[in-house]
Amino acid sequence: MKIAAIRTHVLRHELPEAERFQSSFSTFRERWACLVEVECAGGVTGWGECLGPALPNAAIVEAMAGRIIGRDAWDIEPIWLDLYNEFRDQGQRGLTMTALSGVDIALWDAAGKDLGAPVWRLLGGAHRMKVPAYATGGFRPVGRDRIEPTVREVTGYVSEGFRAAKIKIGYGAAEDARAIRALREAVGPEIALMVDANHGYDAVEAVALGRAVADLDIGWFEEPVTPEHLRAYAEVRARQPVPVAGGETWHGRAAFAAALEAGAVDILQPDVCGCGGITEMRKIFAMAETAGVRVVPHVWGTGVAVAAALQMLATLPPSPPRHEPRPPLLEFDRTPNPFRMAVLAAPIEHEAGEVAVPEGPGLGFEIDRATLERFSARR
Ligand code: CA
Repeated sequence: MKIAAIRTHVLRHELPEAERFQSSFSTFRERWACLVEVECAGGVTGWGECLGPALPNAAIVEAMAGRIIGRDAWDIEPIWLDLYNEFRDQGQRGLTMTALSGVDIALWDAAGKDLGAPVWRLLGGAHRMKVPAYATGGFRPVGRDRIEPTVREVTGYVSEGFRAAKIKIGYGAAEDARAIRALREAVGPEIALMVDANHGYDAVEAVALGRAVADLDIGWFEEPVTPEHLRAYAEVRARQPVPVAGGETWHGRAAFAAALEAGAVDILQPDVCGCGGITEMRKIFAMAETAGVRVVPHVWGTGVAVAAALQMLATLPPSPPRHEPRPPLLEFDRTPNPFRMAVLAAPIEHEAGEVAVPEGPGLGFEIDRATLERFSARR
């Protein structure tokens, strides 16, 4: 199955002012995505997605294309290693890896379609066909107080059927603690709540925040500090009671090995569209299982990214295996994005807070080319 062409699709949508939102350090005025299309001779097409800035990702994918056009699309591991090695000296982390992830996911999708089998079957079979999802939202609206809107937003997810939600913090420890407390009071004790600082704190603030919410049963404290500072991660873990999570900005096995070695996290969060694709993510799963560290993948992108994450979630081994194993969680972004699920011919939806693993070949979806055209940044 020769690779005939590689194309990138950069999508862009400007959010109306009332929908703009902020994490601890960035302001979302637009939504972007970079999808990767690998067309094979014989008519099979595979799709992937790159985490992070869409235009630079697309440029790197295009730079990689020349090395793999004409090769057999089934040579997934050799192509991965060839691309990684070619860009390694300047590209062990960051955009090279996010671009490589998009290419790799598209090759797995093509392989599955060629065989008429879902990717999870190619990877050795599924441990589960349904995954509970948690709603990701609770960002700060631009220029407005956030506590009341966050409470309203999250109680909305609960009434939709979600049993778990994650909100953003990292704006200031005292106000963050007030927001978390107000939210816990609003949703009651049964809903799982997680918080994500997007590395908006230093270790001193993160320890203070974790201690301030110690009685509120917070599921995890995501990216408390900047991702380079593994020692600070370990310090936050040691000095406050909330489980520490991180991994969306770590790319490649070596980065995850360093985080595991440092005892940085209780919960590892690789993103299949960033960590190096399906090929690398399954190795990271094996590393986490070997280290005895829980995995909850990070997901931030369109339905293509969600479909790829579901393939991985299907194959994530229960750890430990037992009669009623603890299921992993799917991160399900609820922030404003008109093309998130519109890129798929059939959107991936939750039902009472659970999402089914796709059973179709490859990643299990058909792309909606009209959506790609409508939101194309290059039009
Ligand atoms: Ca995050």
